[in-house]
Amino acid sequence: MSDILSKQEIKELRKDFPILERTVYGLPLVYFDNAATAQKPLPVLDSIEKYYREYNANVHRGVHRLSQEATDAFEEARKKIAVFIDAKEEKEIIFTKGTTEAINLVASSFGKQFLHEGDSVLISAMEHHSNIVPWQIICEEKKAKLKVIPFNEAGELRMDEFDKLLDDTVKIVAVTYISNSLGTINPVEEIIAKAHAKNIPVLIDGAQATPHFPVSVQKLDADFMAFSAHKIYGPTGFGILYGKEAWLNKLPPYQGGGEMIKSVSFEKTIYNELPFKFEAGTPDISGAIAFGAAIDYINNIGIEKIHATENALLQYALQKMKALPQIRFIGEAKNRSGLISFLLGAAHPFDTGELLDKQGIAVRTGHHCCQPVMDIFNIPGTVRASFAFYNTEEEVDRMLKAIEKASKILL
Ligand code: PLP
Repeated sequence: MSDILSKQEIKELRKDFPILERTVYGLPLVYFDNAATAQKPLPVLDSIEKYYREYNANVHRGVHRLSQEATDAFEEARKKIAVFIDAKEEKEIIFTKGTTEAINLVASSFGKQFLHEGDSVLISAMEHHSNIVPWQIICEEKKAKLKVIPFNEAGELRMDEFDKLLDDTVKIVAVTYISNSLGTINPVEEIIAKAHAKNIPVLIDGAQATPHFPVSVQKLDADFMAFSAHKIYGPTGFGILYGKEAWLNKLPPYQGGGEMIKSVSFEKTIYNELPFKFEAGTPDISGAIAFGAAIDYINNIGIEKIHATENALLQYALQKMKALPQIRFIGEAKNRSGLISFLLGAAHPFDTGELLDKQGIAVRTGHHCCQPVMDIFNIPGTVRASFAFYNTEEEVDRMLKAIEKASKILL
C-alpha cells in the first residue's frame, strides 16, 4: 500500500478546489457526495476557459490554425485517457456523454448484432439503473432474457449463483466494479476469467472504481469499460467507453451523422475508422480537454496515494460510526471502497439527510439509482457519505457530531 497524503498536503491540495471554501447556512461546507460527482480543481476549470478564450474551433474539420490546436488538444486528451486506464490503443477510447451513454452504446450496438431470441444478458442485482435499463430495452426488442446475479446480506455477489447463471444462453455479462449504493468492490477479475472461459464478453461499469484506484483494462482483460469524467474531478457530460479494438470493429455504429463517416452517398455510406465510427456529431471538445487536465492533476498526486488516503479516511469513519448504536450499515462487504451507506434507526433517510445538510454536511440520500438494491433490503433508501482525497478526519468528526444531533431529533 502506498503512502497517504499528509494533513499538510491535503490542506495545500484543498486550495485547488475553490468550492471547498464556501459555506452553507453560514457553516463551512463538508462535501461528502463525491460518488455522485467530485469537485473540480483549478487546472480543470482553467482548461475550459482557456479553450473557449483562446482556441475555440471545431475539431478534425479545419486546416486553419485554431482548428488544428483544438484537434491536437482533443486528441492529446484521448492519449492521456488511454494511458490512465492502460488501454492498448488510443482508438479503443470512445468519447461519450458519460457512463450511461457508453453502456447504452454497447447494449444497443452489441444487442443489434449479437442478441437473438432465447439468448440472455447477465447483470448483477447491485447495478446502477444505467446498467439495467439499456439491457432491458434491448432484451425486450430481441426477445432475450435479463438474468441477475444476487448478493448476500453483506452486499457481496453470490459467486456460486454466478457460476450457475453463466450458461450457454448468456451472450454478454455486464457488472459494476464498485457498487455506488453499497461500496462493494466486486471480483471482476474472476467474473471476466470465468466468462472468457466460455467465450462470453464482459462490460465493466467502472464509474465508481476509476476515481479511486488504478484500473488496467489490459490486466483485467475487460472487453468493454464505461466511466464518467465528472466523478474523477473532470467535467460533467463527458465520459468514456473503452472497448477492445476487435470488439469495437464488430459492432455497428450507435448513431449516424457527421464525423462517423468516411463517405456518404444516397446509395451507400462508408463508416469511419475507430474511434470516430462511434463519435457522431461535434463532440464535447472542452469536456475532453478538461478531462485530460483532470488526469494530469490526478497523476501529479498519484492515484495509488489517492487510494491509500481515501482508504485511511474510510476506515477512520467506519470505526467511529461503529461506535454509534443507532447506525445501521447497508453494505458491509469485506472488500469495499470509497463510501458508507447507512440509516439512522428507523428514521427516513431524507430526514437524516436534511438535518445533516442544515449542519453543513452534504451527503446523498435516496435510492442512488439502485431501486432494486433498496427493494432487496426492504428500505426506501440510504444516507450515503462518499469520500475524496481532499476530505479530512475533522470533516468526518463534524459529520459524527451532526449525526448525534440528528439522532436526538429523529429517534
Ligand atoms: N454507474 C455507476 C456505478 C454510477 O455510480 C453512476 C453514477 O452515479 C453511473 C453508472 C452513471 O453515471 P453518469 O450519470 O455519469 O452517466
